[in-house]
Amino acid sequence: VDICSIGGNAATNAGGLCCVKYGVTSDYVLGMEVVLADGSVCRLGSRLSKDVAGLSLTKLFVGSEGTLGVITELTLRRLPQPAVAGTVVASFASLEHAARAVVAITATFRPTMLELMDRATVNAVEDRLRMGLDRSAGALLIAQADAGADLETLAGVCRAHEATEVFHTNDPDEGDLFVHVRRSALPALEAQGSVLLEDVGVPMARLPELVERIQAKAVDWGVTIAVIAHAGDGNTHPVIVFDPEDEAQSRRARAAFEAVMGLALELGGTITGEHGVGRLKRGWLASQLGKATMTLNWRIKQALDPGNILNPGALFDPSVQC
Ligand SMILES: Cc1cc2nc3c(=O)[nH]c(=O)nc-3n(C[C@H](O)[C@H](O)[C@H](O)COP(=O)(O)OP(=O)(O)OC[C@H]3O[C@@H](n4cnc5c(N)ncnc54)[C@H](O)[C@@H]3O)c2cc1C
Repeated sequence: VDICSIGGNAATNAGGLCCVKYGVTSDYVLGMEVVLADGSVCRLGSRLSKDVAGLSLTKLFVGSEGTLGVITELTLRRLPQPAVAGTVVASFASLEHAARAVVAITATFRPTMLELMDRATVNAVEDRLRMGLDRSAGALLIAQADAGADLETLAGVCRAHEATEVFHTNDPDEGDLFVHVRRSALPALEAQGSVLLEDVGVPMARLPELVERIQAKAVDWGVTIAVIAHAGDGNTHPVIVFDPEDEAQSRRARAAFEAVMGLALELGGTITGEHGVGRLKRGWLASQLGKATMTLNWRIKQALDPGNILNPGALFDPSVQC
């Protein structure tokens, strides 16, 4: 991926590694210019931090996946550049142990980044980068906190949750090295086969159960499901790795993809924490939102785009009557 436009970022309400402290795109959109399906141009929101005049239409368009209008200009809130972050890296015997540490950390701390990688992912990254990562670790937790945070206490929470190895540093170059490990995770897994990238999230307390049961789904369906997670947000990226030449395995991979979404909903979670619904997940949207809310979504779509000319097929399944 070479580029990502700010319009696309707002249209998907994108998030990233630092959302656990700094929030997602919608937290920064103060206003926008949007062109509606009938060609009219609207200015929504303003340049003000506090402005409650009218309905909150700016928020309606953020995350609308291009289905309600085309965003042609954005006014964003800016923050001062945070001081250099400190980094804690911890290994755990299993993904569940690491997830329990994440729950404990988020109950007492506000890290800027709290990322989790399972053994399959650590090994894929090590295959690619050859930097001496512990291939036997069940999971690797990479946390960062803004300058001044008590890294020793954060490391202590990891030790209290049976981390097998904990390391912390205030050296930005060392910290960047581990962020690079995390950023290399998806390309490293993509080098091992075709991938189906999941994006499910659950309430924080259910994270250990989610990761444990994803592993059970991998066994049930006989496929590899590597887990990368923006763990501090309860947002996970189970990555189903499969051989596209193997038809039976490809079918099982797709079934596992669906099963993971069902699991997230069973745990009170979401089918998508940041990538959006698009066409791939539109068949599941009603299961998460329920009939009344799905109908409300569709009524808004019809009111703004009666001819269904804006990104038709995304979010809403044309074959399903809402
Ligand atoms: C490898 C990879 C990693 C990713 N990692 C993350 C991640 O860490 N966090 C995250 O949140 N997301 C992630 N994504 C998804 C990401 O949110 C989106 O791909 C990206 O932010 C969208 O920007 P884009 O410019 O690529 O938009 P596009 O992919 O071009 O479009 C995305 C959607 O937005 C709509 N859209 C685009 N521009 C506008 C506009 N101006 N007005 C209205 N609608 C518009 C399109 O119709 C489409 O529905 C990832 C995607 C990939 C492929």
